[in-house]
Amino acid sequence: MKTIGLIGGMSWESTTLYYQLINREVAKRMGGLRSAKLNLVSLDFADIAQRQREGDWDGMAGILCEAARHLSATGAQCLLIGTNTMHLLAEQVQAATDVPLIHIAEVTADAILAQGLHTVALLGTRFTMEQPFYVAHLARRGISCVVPEEAERAEIHRIIFEELCLGLISETSRAWLAECIAGLQARGAQGVVLGCTELPLIVRPTDSALPTFDTTALHALAAVEFSLAH
Ligand code: GLU
Repeated sequence: MKTIGLIGGMSWESTTLYYQLINREVAKRMGGLRSAKLNLVSLDFADIAQRQREGDWDGMAGILCEAARHLSATGAQCLLIGTNTMHLLAEQVQAATDVPLIHIAEVTADAILAQGLHTVALLGTRFTMEQPFYVAHLARRGISCVVPEEAERAEIHRIIFEELCLGLISETSRAWLAECIAGLQARGAQGVVLGCTELPLIVRPTDSALPTFDTTALHALAAVEFSLAH
């Protein structure tokens, strides 16, 4: 079994999902008391979120690259950045070490294509919905994104930072997100990418008119696949 390196804490609410998903999958596949070999660097999200607001992407690249080098030096054999948003820096993080980075948008694209879909709604932070990095990554695999309108993007971003990253699950927000997804279906989406690692906490498959792509689970399972591959 290879050791998984996880850069987490963005937020820790979703890092706990990664930890459970990875360990449960290893136990399911290997049986008994088997659990994952995993090294975690858990960052202080207040610092990251402030830098995001200020646009200090160079500062965040420094922090993530240092985390990646630490994980490499302590034996990690693959790297996960446990957030969609911070994949804006994926190339810099990959360049900081020889340890292969498992890209969240890449494993999500694999899952979308495996279902034969080519147009998906993308929900996430403003950075993920508005900056080109995520949409372009999916486009390179032949997948188009339907992105929510400005007012919807503002509300999704607010739900992520003011509720989900603080561990708050609101039924009002859950119902609002379900309506938002139905609207994106009407605009042509065939599936919905939960492109924020906290969104699976609130959008369950049964809340969605569209098939959901849970990026947290897809990313975690890809790491287990890597870890257990011969
Ligand atoms: N975890 C979230 C994501 O997947 C948002 C937190 C962040 O800005 O990194 O994008």
